[in-house]
Amino acid sequence: MQPLIYPDLPGPSPLLRGYAGMQNVILRQKKTIRDVDVRGRRVLVRADFNVPLDEDGTIADDTRIRASLPTIRYLCEQNARVILCSHLDRPKGVVEERLRLALVANRLSVLLDRPVVALRDCIGPEVESAVAGMSGGDIVLLENLRFHPEERADDPAFAKHLAGLAEVYVNDAFGASHRAHASVVGVPEHLPAVAGLLLEKEVKTFRRILEDPERPFAAVIGGAKVSDKLEVLENIISRVDLLLIGGGMAATFLASRGYGTGISHVETDRLDAVRAISAQATELGLRLLLPRDIVVAERLEAGSPTRVVPATEIPDGWLIADIGPGAADEFSHELSRCRTVVWNGPMGVFEVPAFAEGTRRIAATLANLRGTTVVGGGSTADAVVRFGLDDRLTHVSTGGGAALTMLAGRPLPGVTALDDAEEP
Ligand code: ADP
Ligand code: MG
Repeated sequence: MQPLIYPDLPGPSPLLRGYAGMQNVILRQKKTIRDVDVRGRRVLVRADFNVPLDEDGTIADDTRIRASLPTIRYLCEQNARVILCSHLDRPKGVVEERLRLALVANRLSVLLDRPVVALRDCIGPEVESAVAGMSGGDIVLLENLRFHPEERADDPAFAKHLAGLAEVYVNDAFGASHRAHASVVGVPEHLPAVAGLLLEKEVKTFRRILEDPERPFAAVIGGAKVSDKLEVLENIISRVDLLLIGGGMAATFLASRGYGTGISHVETDRLDAVRAISAQATELGLRLLLPRDIVVAERLEAGSPTRVVPATEIPDGWLIADIGPGAADEFSHELSRCRTVVWNGPMGVFEVPAFAEGTRRIAATLANLRGTTVVGGGSTADAVVRFGLDDRLTHVSTGGGAALTMLAGRPLPGVTALDDAEEP
């Protein structure tokens, strides 16, 4: 059996010092909204208004709407005619009344304290005449793009119709920029295409931590499955000084080292990949920590019996529900010495209060850290919002899949599609 903890090196790994700048550049520098003249012009803004909805159809969390305000305010100050568009949820290419964007327009209007007109479609003669009637500073919101199957299919004619509404295209939808959809990659073929302020902030934040982090630099990776995070682990391992593993994926790591994991889900087809990551950690001389103790449960439900056990002694018939208090202490201690931390994936099934403590401890540690703290991942962002700690982190990404794509070191199609900035 192999040890749980890899070599105990103090501080940043010597192999990695001065590593900055050696990485291939993830994204070339792109034009932003400040690099084009938008005064008085018709500007199509691809925003990410894909907000979670309650059972009764009201907006459960308007973080993404609020995150779009700086770009919209900037355009209004420039007296631009602002044409917003977005998708909401997953309508199957047909109109679904409960997914109309009028509810977003209403919320936006309150937040901006000015009218936002919701249109009943996103292309067609009615939309064209509404846009033709706009004055400088007016705002309209096109209907849910995914009511048309052409959006997801990146249909060229659909993209051309959308582009025909405007003179400038702004992508501010970080959360949709990993998708090669018509409004993300098709429209910018036809118009001057630039990044909005939110997209710029998101991309810059991830670039900075990946390419030139202040060290020591740690990654905390959790969540349900290794397979969702394999590319992230493979990319991040050559960049960090410390890698902490929690969540359900700890089961596959423990199993790869020969430990029993009870009835936890082990991804047997990923054991070799996980062993390779552990071997690479050793080779690079960085510390990879698995939780030393575990909260195990009989079921992943409220009310299930629970126990705290050493990670090496998970009993038969029980499964991993959260990292244990000893692991939370150790992880917090390690993180408190870091200057940059990126976190993706909860440490346990935080939706159930009995299994939320490990995730809460990590969130609290990051909230108190004097350094750069970045959260990427839909559930991880939900968790820090739920704990009321999001305001105390450097950056909580608005994009789940897009953040994972950046952490995996892959380009975002929606960013690649934008105009390159001029060479300095
Ligand atoms: P993110 O959306 O932040 O990228 P993931 O989607 O990878 O995160 O994982 C989130 C989910 O992982 C949560 O719903 C959480 O309940 C689940 N999870 C965390 N720990 C465990 C565990 N030990 N067993 C099963 N599921 C877990
Ligand atoms: Mg998720």
